[in-house]
Amino acid sequence: MRRDVITEATIDLGAIAHNTAVFAASTTAEVMAVVKANGFGHGALATAEAALAGGATWLGVATGAEALELRAAGVTAPILSWIHPHDGDLAEAVAADVDVSVSSVDHLASVASSGLTPNVHLKADTGLHRNGSVASDWPELVRRAREFEQYGRIRVRAVWSHLISGEDSEAEATRLQVTRFETALALARDAGLRPRLRHLANSVAALGTPVTHYDLVRPGIGLYGVEPDLRRTYGLRAAMTLRARLVLVKHVPAGSGVSYEHDYVTTRPTTLGLVPLGFADGVPRTAGPFAQVWCAGRRFPVAGRIAMDQFVVDFGEFTPAAGEDVVLFGSGADGEPTVGDWADWAGTIPHEIFTGIGARVRREHVGLPVPANQQRGEA
Ligand SMILES: *Cc1c(COP(=O)(O)O)cnc(C)c1O
Repeated sequence: MRRDVITEATIDLGAIAHNTAVFAASTTAEVMAVVKANGFGHGALATAEAALAGGATWLGVATGAEALELRAAGVTAPILSWIHPHDGDLAEAVAADVDVSVSSVDHLASVASSGLTPNVHLKADTGLHRNGSVASDWPELVRRAREFEQYGRIRVRAVWSHLISGEDSEAEATRLQVTRFETALALARDAGLRPRLRHLANSVAALGTPVTHYDLVRPGIGLYGVEPDLRRTYGLRAAMTLRARLVLVKHVPAGSGVSYEHDYVTTRPTTLGLVPLGFADGVPRTAGPFAQVWCAGRRFPVAGRIAMDQFVVDFGEFTPAAGEDVVLFGSGADGEPTVGDWADWAGTIPHEIFTGIGARVRREHVGLPVPANQQRGEA
């Protein structure tokens, strides 16, 4: 860490490229790297470049604004964005050659009025009941899509859907969803549509459920090195290490209450260290009673409540130097906690830990050359 930096997420772009290659090797389909939410907190642009270097041919984001950010930075790979207002003006995204997802006839009508010929991915709801068109609305959606296509007002590039399970490659629901997806594809075909791409798989399915692969898979969490499958591992490498520099070290007597409301009281004379990261930086407050950090080759417990900007570590008889590095999570290879440990301590999933990491935490990209414009954009 640089001397003037006290909190940093180091992101190994080599790991992201490696993980992308693992996905590419597990399928004959194309790989769409999902880099929504600032690349799950890893930096959208740097992550996108690393994934493209690792074999991805598409990028996936949630919003039009996220897609435009990538375009503005010079990314030319095909991009799909999938969350839009039902009557939203998507002209800017479409003009930037961003493919848009359409889940309803309302969506379709507004997309078709862009004055251009947007590439559309028609989304079927095969059971998640989140985005996508339910089966009863699907025949009308594909019929209208074909009409607009014939008028040259859209091009239907894909039919797609999203899986219910993000953690079980053998989930019962997946088989049912594949069947429903097949029905949606057949109806699209009957309506005269000939989409070049069909896509369904998230990380877990891309690695473990070949029947879901079709023409393209859409890994997110696995790119960042979290093994998605409850059943087995695939040699994915953690990309992010979150660390901070101790800003204060002090000795206190037994019976010292630590942090707000004194939930934690020292039972012996001990050494406390102050870590300048808090819940405003995405360190979950609920993890406090269970969490540990890694310092000088050992784990030490968090003492008392995690505050907005800082928390305290109980070092016991060990006295770290002020300014010493503390790792919150990393690959786990040396014994340090992982993002999965923090997720468990907080009762959540790694996705939420990653995406909660705030703007105050400097992102340092290593492991692959990063073009200058990315360093500026994501410092
Ligand atoms: C987030 C997301 C993904 C990636 O899912 P993971 O389980 O993180 O691999 C894929 N597709 C869609 C539509 C998503 O929203």
